[in-house]
This record gives sequence, structure tokens and C-alpha cells, in this order.
Amino acid sequence: MLDFTLPTAHEKIRELIHWFGENRIRPVSLKADHERRFPDDVIEEVWRLGLASGGAPKELGGEGDGVGGERDKRGKKSTNRMAVMASEEIAWSDPSLILNIPGPGLGGPPVRFMGTPEQQKRFLGIFTDPEKPRFGAYGLTEPGAGSDVAGISTTATRDGAHYVLNGVKCYISNGARAEWVVIFATVDKALGRAGHRAFVVEKGTPGFRVGRIEDKMGLHATETAELVLEECRVHRDNLLGGEEQYQSKEGFVTAMKTFDYSRPMVASMAVGIARAAFERAQGVVRERLSRSSAGRRHAALAAKLSDMARLVDAARTMVWRAAWMADEGIPNTKEASMAKAYAAQIAMGVCSDAIQIVGATGADEDFLLEKWFRDIKVFDIFEGTGQAQRIVISKRILQHLRSF
Ligand SMILES: Cc1cc2nc3c(=O)[nH]c(=O)nc-3n(C[C@H](O)[C@H](O)[C@H](O)COP(=O)(O)OP(=O)(O)OC[C@H]3O[C@@H](n4cnc5c(N)ncnc54)[C@H](O)[C@@H]3O)c2cc1C
Repeated sequence: MLDFTLPTAHEKIRELIHWFGENRIRPVSLKADHERRFPDDVIEEVWRLGLASGGAPKELGGEGDGVGGERDKRGKKSTNRMAVMASEEIAWSDPSLILNIPGPGLGGPPVRFMGTPEQQKRFLGIFTDPEKPRFGAYGLTEPGAGSDVAGISTTATRDGAHYVLNGVKCYISNGARAEWVVIFATVDKALGRAGHRAFVVEKGTPGFRVGRIEDKMGLHATETAELVLEECRVHRDNLLGGEEQYQSKEGFVTAMKTFDYSRPMVASMAVGIARAAFERAQGVVRERLSRSSAGRRHAALAAKLSDMARLVDAARTMVWRAAWMADEGIPNTKEASMAKAYAAQIAMGVCSDAIQIVGATGADEDFLLEKWFRDIKVFDIFEGTGQAQRIVISKRILQHLRSF
């Protein structure tokens, strides 16, 4: 049975994140956007407060990454629900902050799914080090392969105890500052998806360099990098899953499985932005309706506001369902894609409506609203575009049809 409850301790964490977001993040949000980076002291503070779980599994000293089905004190699995709750709250304060939270990021799940115990210890253990906030990254997208991930052309050629990687990855979040990046490459293009393998490429590996840093429409205070691999030699110990994985042909499946965990989180961020924009509009409508003479004139605004509230609530419910399924180990690919497609779409509409309600003058003065309007677009692009989600969903609802 669907269960959206969380332990009381998690509710306290939500309150803490909200307080921190309102008092420490919102005040620096526009400055970070203009300067295109979050102040180091804020990132350090996020990390010291423990808001970043480290994304490492509990057995390695982390707070759990949701992949291992960690149980809370009530004996229930709630890591994924906890993650969507926290992500919504953080995105409410500033969506750029999410990608500035130290940890393995999207690189974590492939290491967990495919990595040997030694590899998990080696690559995820560093995130529990109390000395320094660290980042990991996930390198799948290429200039010629975004939605069509099966078409990646980065090659991995075996050479004794090493693999030689050649190719270009683009739009990689935290790619330039990551300690390591999970790079998906093909060992044999003729095999298509079955030729995909995942390698952990560490910072400083000869032949591995950062190319351009993208100049984006939104999420200015996040780093999105191009990564270039030229005759980059990585030891076979960095092939996730080792020799067994080499034979298993599971690289593509793993790349996709990562999304079952990450899409509900990305969807919850969209919900957080939509909620922020809704609250802004709500404040304006309240203020206008309180002036009695304006009441009738603004009744349409109140109706618009009720539509926005309904959409945000519906999106959150879809997100929590997908997260609950992940916690319970129930296959959630379809529900995760539904939540991601829906939340991103309604959030774009809610941000647009909020600007409409506040009005042109208000929008000029309210730069946060303008920033969220720019930030939200990418939520319908990364982690699979809206169209890509529809393909995932339709494959599952029409799977009995042979021709589909
Ligand atoms: C800020 C940001 C951060 C990112 N972070 C990462 C990261 O950390 N790691 C990573 O690997 N990638 C990352 N990406 C890349 C992101 O995942 C891709 O941009 C995304 O998958 C879309 O690929 P594309 O940009 O090549 O667009 P394309 O795939 O070229 O798509 C262009 C358009 O065509 C549509 N389209 C494509 N195929 C179909 C189809 N079959 N049917 C219908 N419509 C279709 C798409 O929906 C889209 O509208 C990031 C991107 C951004 C913007």
C-alpha cells in the first residue's frame, strides 16, 4: 500500500533545510546566479551541516544512497522518499544549489549497481572523508548522442591491463571539479547497446581534460562541462564490475537504471521551483484581494492560483509514488518517467503563470521569479527530455504490441 509517511526525524530535517534555504540560500541566490558560482563558504556550510549525505552507502559510513534499500529507524526503507523531500526543499530555495551539493551525484548509482565491493569502497568511500567536500560526475551525453544514448561513440579499446578511451562528453554536471567521472564508452560499436561499458576516469588521468564550460540560459551557478578523452589510458580496475561486467553486456541497462532513482529526484526539484513560484504569486494575489475594491476584478487570479496549487500537488504525488516504489524495490521506470515528464511540464507553466500574475512591473522587480523561469526549462531537458520520457512510458504501456 502506498505509504508517504516519514519518520519524525526526517520532518525535522525538512524544517532545517527549509530554514537554511530561506535564511542562507535565498539571500545569496541572485548573486550566485550573476557570478555564476555559489560561494565556497555556502557549499562548505551545506556540507558541514550534513545536508549533503555524501551519497555514499551506509556500509561505507555515508547516510545511504537509496540504491541499497537502507532502512530507517522504524525498519522501513525511506531513503528515496527522504531524497525527494529534501530535493524539493532545496530547489525551493535555489535549484542551482542541488548541483553544488558535494557527493558522487549521478555517478553514484552506476558505481553501486555495477561496481565490485572494492570499487565501491575506492570510489564512494572518498565522499565520507570529513576533510574536504568532493564531487563525482556522470558522463553519458555526447555531441551526437543525447536522447539517443545508444548511439554513443566514445570508444574503449583494450590494451593489456588498460583500456584506451577516445571521445568527447558534453554537458556533464560538475565534470570539471569531479574527483572522478563515470564514462560510458563502447568496446564494439557493431554490438550497439550490448557494447557499452562504464569506466571510472579519475581527475588527472593523462589524456583526460576539461574542454569548454557551458554558458547556459538557466542554472547559472552550476558547472556544466565538456570532457575530452584522447588516448586516455585507464587501468582495467576502473572498468565497473571488472571482467565479469565486461562479459555481461549490462552497461546500457545500468546507464538507464540510474534514471529510476534520479528521475523522481529531478522531478521533485521541478516541484520545488513550481512551489516557490506559486508562493510568490499567492502573496501578490492575497495582497490584491485584501483590497476590497479590487476583489471582484481579481477573482480570475484566484482561480488561476487554485489551478497552480492543484498542479503542484498532483506532481508531488506522482513524484512520491515513484520514490516510494524505489524504496520498496518495485520496478518504477514508467512511474519515474511519468513524474519527471509531468513535473517539468507543469513547473514551466506554473512559473510562467506566476510571472503573468505578478505582472510585467512585478516581474522586473522580482528577479527571483525571472531566474526560476530561466532555471526551470532545463528540467524538461536533462535526465531525458519530455519527449524521451514519453517514449519510455509508451513502450511500457504498449509493450504487449509486437510492432512497438
Ligand atoms: C544543465 C545540463 C546538465 C546536464 N548534465 C548531464 C550530466 O551530468 N551527464 C550527462 O551525461 N548528460 C547531462 N546533460 C545532458 C542531457 O542529458 C541532454 O542534453 C539530454 O539528454 C538531451 O540530449 P540533447 O541535448 O543531445 O538533445 P537531443 O537528443 O538532440 O534532442 C533534441 C530534441 O529532439 C527531441 N528528440 C530526440 N529524439 C527524439 C525522439 N526519438 N522522438 C521525439 N523527440 C525526440 C528531444 O526531446 C529534444 O527536444 C545535461 C544537460 C544540461 C542542459
